[in-house]
Amino acid sequence: MNLKLIQTLSLREKKSLLERALKLQEETGELAEQILIHRQASGTKHKKKKLDGIREEAIDVILVALSIFFLENGSIAELAQLLESKAKIWKQRQLINEGGNQVTNGAGEVKPDRSAPGSPKTHRLWGWGSGSSEEEHS
Ligand SMILES: [Mg+2]
Repeated sequence: MNLKLIQTLSLREKKSLLERALKLQEETGELAEQILIHRQASGTKHKKKKLDGIREEAIDVILVALSIFFLENGSIAELAQLLESKAKIWKQRQLINEGGNQVTNGAGEVKPDRSAPGSPKTHRLWGWGSGSSEEEHS
């Protein structure tokens, strides 16, 4: 992926921080709409499902979020470092939410021990949320 191009486009973009923040809200709304259509939620049955709609709208959200990151003087190196550190936090929270029982596989990776008594059989998609979602990503 050409992050330099995304950084250049972000810095050439005329939209202000506030306009980008509003655009991000617009794109998250479009993503939510595509998810609702995909799930055939009430009130969306008359709306047309876009081919790859959820994935495309997720990318729109990412691009606008990146334009905010680069506008705020974020570098590509900092982006990589922050993604790595945030992913590690996410991983730790998933493991905690999965019962805290961990085992190490042959490759040295830490994995939850789902066979342990009391371990949840499902996992939360996002460890930092309210804890109310038990939905698995399909
Ligand atoms: Mg969009």
